[in-house]
Amino acid sequence: MVFENLKESIAKFFRSEKYEEAVNEFIKDLQKELVKSDVNLNLALEITKKIKERALTQEPPIGVSRKEWFLSIVYEELVKLLGGDLKPSVKPARKPWIIMLVGLQGSGKTTTAAKLAYFYKLEGYKVGLVAADTFRPAAYDQLKQLGEQIGVPVYGDPSVKDAVEIATRGVKYFIDKGFEVVIIDTAGRHHKEEDLLEEMRMISSSVKPDEIILVIDGSIGQQAYNIAKKFHETTPIGSIIVTKLDGTAKGGGALSAVAATGAPIKFVGLGEKIEDFEVFKPSKLVGRVLGYGDIEGLVEKVKRIQLEFTEKDVEDLMEGRLNMRLVYKQLVSLRKMGPLRKVLQMIPGLGVKIPFEIDPKDLEVKLSKWLAVINSMTYEELDNPEIIDKSRLKRIARGAGVDTEYARELLKQYDMLKKLSKQLRKRKDLLKKLGEGF
Ligand code: GDP
Repeated sequence: MVFENLKESIAKFFRSEKYEEAVNEFIKDLQKELVKSDVNLNLALEITKKIKERALTQEPPIGVSRKEWFLSIVYEELVKLLGGDLKPSVKPARKPWIIMLVGLQGSGKTTTAAKLAYFYKLEGYKVGLVAADTFRPAAYDQLKQLGEQIGVPVYGDPSVKDAVEIATRGVKYFIDKGFEVVIIDTAGRHHKEEDLLEEMRMISSSVKPDEIILVIDGSIGQQAYNIAKKFHETTPIGSIIVTKLDGTAKGGGALSAVAATGAPIKFVGLGEKIEDFEVFKPSKLVGRVLGYGDIEGLVEKVKRIQLEFTEKDVEDLMEGRLNMRLVYKQLVSLRKMGPLRKVLQMIPGLGVKIPFEIDPKDLEVKLSKWLAVINSMTYEELDNPEIIDKSRLKRIARGAGVDTEYARELLKQYDMLKKLSKQLRKRKDLLKKLGEGF
């Protein structure tokens, strides 16, 4: 499987004292590992460059250590490389949903057609298979047999040599009968490569599939890029299924297929049996290869902390409606030059100074304590901090593991912001009145 040795590099990274050196070391390891896994060299260089650039120029959000931040960048970029979506959508967008499988002979296309049919059958869809590989004589029988095994009807006619005709008739047959997912298995070989591609083009233009899936053998290595590119240029690939990842395949070729088509990997084949088939989850794979226990949790944490002020937040503030959640956002954004401050400065006529002017030296310590205090408040208290009395304040502080002084100070900050919020509202009303006067 891809990136087998990254775990050790990560451990090394966390042991290292100097951040920049550690980043450079890790990037080198990552490049080696990508190339070793058959990822196209240019692609490997491109992704590592992006990771390095982000790691050395972007600031971690408050509450996230620089090393955690780096790891979350690596994670994000690797997930993007593997097809982007954290949870690829495998649900048909509408019914009927026509899927056309393309790929070279031996890639596992026929087996995959049956696996996919079975997957959708178990999801509750009425599924039909169309045997449109008229080049390989045994293809129809193979699919027929698989269909019987999984209880999915197969449309085909071994006496017809025209694949376009079979595909078109098969799709119509199933649609007329109210089938919801139709999967077309196509040829993977012809006398000449151009003939194969031409046939794919013709089937596609006649059937107009909703999704064209490239089936690619996970063990083919570097060739994957060119194969994927050719198919993609002929019939735009919407998603990818990588087969044979159960063996010794390093799988990097599949990543190159992703790069060549821009299509995400949706499923992986993990054996010859029908049930050896899984929805592909980039996050699961990357999390596992990075060997960092709760990488998804970490990424969530980073996301949660990178809050932005919404229009509603600004409106709430302008209207004098304030709660602890807004304070929370203000606190975490202080490090990032306080977008709230910028937003307010942009509103004409409001030369307001925002509170929270804290000595930068104290900022780090105070913020983390205040955030801990906020985190140990109840939902009600967040929405309406006025209900917090003295004894509750103490308990909140204890829950947060900080001195009560910090909790008190935080509430003071809240009061200040609340006053400001009221002022803003008055000013806004005044401005409005003035505006009306003109
Ligand atoms: P096609 O020519 O593309 O239609 O390929 P087939 O479906 O006939 O598969 C070619 C061979 O690969 C068969 O022996 C399959 O059993 C095998 N195969 C397909 N998918 C997988 C997989 O995910 N893992 C393994 N180990 N073998 C597979």
